[in-house]
Amino acid sequence: MQTGKIGVTSENLFPIIKKFLYSDHDIFLREIVSNAVDATRKLKVLASKGEYAGDVSNLSVRVSFDKEAKTITVSDNGIGMTGEEIEKYINQIAFSGANEFLEKYKDDANAIIGHFGLGFYSSFMVSSKVEIISRSYREDAKPVRWSCDGNPEYSLEETEKAEVGTDIVMYVNSESEEFLDEGKLADILEKYCKFLPIPVVFGKKKTWEGGKQVDTDEDNQINETNPAWTRKPADLTDEDYLSFYRRLYPMADEPLFNIHLNVDYPFNLTGILYFPKIKNNFEVQKNRIQLYCNQVFVTDSVDGIVPEFLTLLHGVLDSPDIPLNVSRSYLQSDSNVKKISSHITKKVADRLAQLFKDKRDDFEKKWDNLKLFIEYGMLTDEKFYERAESFFLLKNTENSYFTLEEYEKLIGDNQTDKDKKLVYLYTNHPEEQFSFVEAARAKGYDVLVMDDVLATPLINRLEQKYPEKRFVRVDSDVAENLIVKEESSQKELSWEEKQELSPLFQAVCPQNNGFSFLVDFRELNETDSPILITRNEFMRRMKDMSQIQGGFSIYGDLPESLNLVVNTAHPLVKKLLQEKETELGETIRALDTDLSAKKAEAESLKASGKDKKEEEILASEKEKLEMLDKAVSELEETKRNKLTEFGQQNKLTRQLVDLALLANGMLKGADLDRFVKRSVELIK
Ligand code: ADP
Repeated sequence: MQTGKIGVTSENLFPIIKKFLYSDHDIFLREIVSNAVDATRKLKVLASKGEYAGDVSNLSVRVSFDKEAKTITVSDNGIGMTGEEIEKYINQIAFSGANEFLEKYKDDANAIIGHFGLGFYSSFMVSSKVEIISRSYREDAKPVRWSCDGNPEYSLEETEKAEVGTDIVMYVNSESEEFLDEGKLADILEKYCKFLPIPVVFGKKKTWEGGKQVDTDEDNQINETNPAWTRKPADLTDEDYLSFYRRLYPMADEPLFNIHLNVDYPFNLTGILYFPKIKNNFEVQKNRIQLYCNQVFVTDSVDGIVPEFLTLLHGVLDSPDIPLNVSRSYLQSDSNVKKISSHITKKVADRLAQLFKDKRDDFEKKWDNLKLFIEYGMLTDEKFYERAESFFLLKNTENSYFTLEEYEKLIGDNQTDKDKKLVYLYTNHPEEQFSFVEAARAKGYDVLVMDDVLATPLINRLEQKYPEKRFVRVDSDVAENLIVKEESSQKELSWEEKQELSPLFQAVCPQNNGFSFLVDFRELNETDSPILITRNEFMRRMKDMSQIQGGFSIYGDLPESLNLVVNTAHPLVKKLLQEKETELGETIRALDTDLSAKKAEAESLKASGKDKKEEEILASEKEKLEMLDKAVSELEETKRNKLTEFGQQNKLTRQLVDLALLANGMLKGADLDRFVKRSVELIK
């Protein structure tokens, strides 16, 4: 019997493996099983070249465990190893610069394992001792048993083994006994090994008997050796793609469609990507793209390998050319990865363009589920944006779909404003903004529905790209002003008039509910609403943006500012102003007379003092001026109070403002209740 020390430059190998890889202990099984699969594939190759005469029709890998003996065994009937080969491949591990590397990538088990070719040694994460019992395919080779108990000391001796192949026996350590469990091992195999190319057998198929699950005689093969992505698209039906999707994500809704990737130059990449139905809010990505390397599952975190927006897709990517033995940050700068990433982007865009071209009807039907994904891509990936412009769709309130080009033609004539800007009107909520939509449509305008979370950033992006286009939400102004075609000849109220009327309405605006109201007056049509609530496009969009990304947060903190637009041409508003006149006219005029007298007096005092030096102004004059100023502000306050009081007590004012709030879905709770009661009162 031969003994020796494993050729590691650092004696710390085993503690390091155990320490750094603790979070990812599961992968020991992946490493050992995929080594076994490799060994069987190598034997197949040898047989095909005539270098091995034995039977290769039943190659498989078997995984078993023994709870009593506390062992997990992985057996294969592959090429096996001679004593010299074990010496060469297992004992001598290149291990230079180990500590530095481990320090750098200590959180990335894949990087460490890949870097050192430590696949086999990962078994020591869960074992106190590992044995290799192997018989090489070479006819003259003697079967050998290698054993190592976790120190760099090993032993190698001849043994008995009838069949060609290798058994790896792991003596599970006391901290890892959780792995001596059928369910646990089945889960790990399902996760990492379900698409390996050689049958992997774990126990027997089960059946129900007398209310219990019992073993049958049939081997329980856990994997599918020819998963859909490894087959030719021509050999696959829609149903094949669907059932593969279900195998990947048993709980997910059916996908919209798929892309089969197959590249072998300048890099190797296969895979199937599915477009899932994306609901209007971003769901947490439960079902992620799975990354495989030669059919071995590696990870479901593809960040850095595909552009961010594509991580919303589902499916499988398989490439031996993605270097997994590097950190994520390095990955993104790898030239192969960059090529893979842009290739996938291009394929996805091509597929969408093709679907749009060949089956526009179907594409339109799927658009609502698809648009968030496409918008996300357009916002985050310039290349994708360029490609997507041909199939990006706008939907209007009549559920018709248009490309950007088509829509421009549609609205060109009627929706160009005086500055030659094309105005795109949109609603983010056709129900809530119903009256605004109607008002815009009554003017012959078309209204788009842009109602998802990315609408605002997308609009910003489009405006940036096309400075001659402007997007205006239908509730941002009265219909007359949405698209201003010529300078207005409207009779506006003077500033004083506005000053005087605004407290009337301000008095009945809801307080303290996150909104602030600005009262404005416009002479619209008699048939337009008496009062409208609009929200400034710019402020609103800034607020929207602050919800999505930081940096806009000063806008996010502001209360939402709304305009209460009073239509001075409306008969009810006229009636209201008349009531105000009857009730307050004289009082107000008296206050005004008094006010202007006091103001005039103050002005003349100020004027006479203007040329004097500070010390020449008499104390009595100063006192007088102060008193006058005080009287003016008191009078103004009295006037404001009278108007406020009138507004608060006047049923018509309240009713008109409440109606406007109601039309905007903003009348709630006690206010709504009072409104209903008052309405009944008014009808009586
Ligand atoms: P890697 O697989 O990355 O080369 P490992 O440490 O996992 O690194 O394995 C080292 C080598 O040991 C393999 O390349 C292979 O030659 C040999 N080996 C491991 N497991 C087996 C096996 N079950 N049958 C035959 N050879 C094996």
